[in-house]
Amino acid sequence: MTQWEVVIGIETHAQLATVSKIFSGASTAFGAEPNTQACAVDLALPGVLPVLNRKAVDCAIRFGLAIGARVAEKSVFERKNYFYPDLPKGYQISQFELPVVQGGSLTVQVGSGDKTYEKTINLTRAHLEEDAGKSLHEDFHGKSGIDLNRAGTPLLEIVTEPDMRSSDEAVAYARALHALVRWIGICDGNMQEGSFRCDANVSVRPKGQAEFGTRREIKNLNSFRFLKEAIDYEVHWQINEIEEGRKIRQATVLFDPDSGETRMMRSKEDAHDYRYFPDPDLLPLVISSEWIGEVKEDMWELPNDRKSRFEREYGLSSYDASLLNTNYDIGNYFEGVVLHALVSGERIGTELSKLAANWVINEVSAKMNQEGDGHPMWKFGVSSETLGHLLRRMREGVIGAKTAKELFTEFWEEARANNYAHHGGHPGKVDELVETRGLKQISDTGAIEALVDEVLTANPGNVAEFKAGKEKAFNALVGQVMKVAKGKANPQQVNELLKKKLAG
Ligand code: ADP
Ligand code: MG
Repeated sequence: MTQWEVVIGIETHAQLATVSKIFSGASTAFGAEPNTQACAVDLALPGVLPVLNRKAVDCAIRFGLAIGARVAEKSVFERKNYFYPDLPKGYQISQFELPVVQGGSLTVQVGSGDKTYEKTINLTRAHLEEDAGKSLHEDFHGKSGIDLNRAGTPLLEIVTEPDMRSSDEAVAYARALHALVRWIGICDGNMQEGSFRCDANVSVRPKGQAEFGTRREIKNLNSFRFLKEAIDYEVHWQINEIEEGRKIRQATVLFDPDSGETRMMRSKEDAHDYRYFPDPDLLPLVISSEWIGEVKEDMWELPNDRKSRFEREYGLSSYDASLLNTNYDIGNYFEGVVLHALVSGERIGTELSKLAANWVINEVSAKMNQEGDGHPMWKFGVSSETLGHLLRRMREGVIGAKTAKELFTEFWEEARANNYAHHGGHPGKVDELVETRGLKQISDTGAIEALVDEVLTANPGNVAEFKAGKEKAFNALVGQVMKVAKGKANPQQVNELLKKKLAG
């Protein structure tokens, strides 16, 4: 049996978050009536000239800096010639031989739980280009229509080396790239609206073989789930073809999410089919080191820098640090929680960091996930200040973990009921409710001792079992004490006192 190795390279089109188009002043806003946002340049009326949008170049530079790439001092816009109804000029302005961003890499965390590993994916290039319009196949008296609103929208096409070896690696890369472009503010990442679309190039080869197999390119995958399903299906299909004695022919295919299959769209075109040549209407793009410096000034800490800092400063595992860096806001939130959970005079230590990380990863993320993908990440139901204060009171022994969780949930629900117009609760409210509802944990040794004695007298059976060596009986006794204390006794003290009494 041949062992197969999968080889994947990904091309991503990220729509740049500029107000106007890449070569015209028309708006890029999504959702307008068809053809209301296409000016003479976008329509390719005779005599018009493209003018490059400086903001789009800023975005490309930002991206180049974020992935440690070379930002080309000089790059060139070229015409990619092909015929399609949604392309009024008959060519797309793109970059070919000299792209604006060259090289660079992205290190991503693959997998989940304790089976994760880091992988570095090398990037080939990223270039600026314009988007095409869109064919509308809705009912137009039995005909199709063309909407040119999207024509001329700035795109950054980001191309990787064929470095990925599984669909999991491909998804990890796509997710990390998606997080990165949003983090650095160059793309809104809205996949439903087509702001972030991936093409996956897939081939297989017998393990150990040096040359790559022939690839097929799956076009326009607009969700991470489809990306994974499409690659898995394609790999399965290719292996089957080869094993049955057929050859893979280079092709462009489409993924049908309903059937879960890929199907042929066209046989692969080569670069020479497009008759690329430098656009005579546009000067070469020259980027000075001053320009790069200005963009750099404007950038905040990058995801992987922050991840290393979280490991170093907070003593977090690589996995937790990566979960706290899936976007910019969640990491900020975590740092806020830690600061507000500090007991006066305390310095940040590993115990506190891990506690805060667990709460943010488990409780906060769970609540955010409930709201679905459309929920803006900054709309936390409970502020980092309030959650930090809850944790502080818990660490001081004022309230137990159960009470902390209950108050957190109550505050979050309050925010949700208000459609997240403001946070639920506030630090002062925590202390007020602890007081008025009598939620204070019992930490007075004398009081707990009385409860323990009461439970021991009332449960001679458990006591006898424990003395006969049954460990489980101990937990039953702890449970009884917590029950008579209505959950408010300090569990650590209960444990210690019970142990002491049973030993005596
Ligand atoms: P094109 O521009 O014609 O689509 P490129 O050579 O630029 O072709 O490659 C496009 C993508 O395909 C890149 O991400 C590259 O890493 C990937 N790729 C190239 N060869 C293979 C292969 N044999 N198997 C899988 N991916 C590949
Ligand atoms: Mg391609």
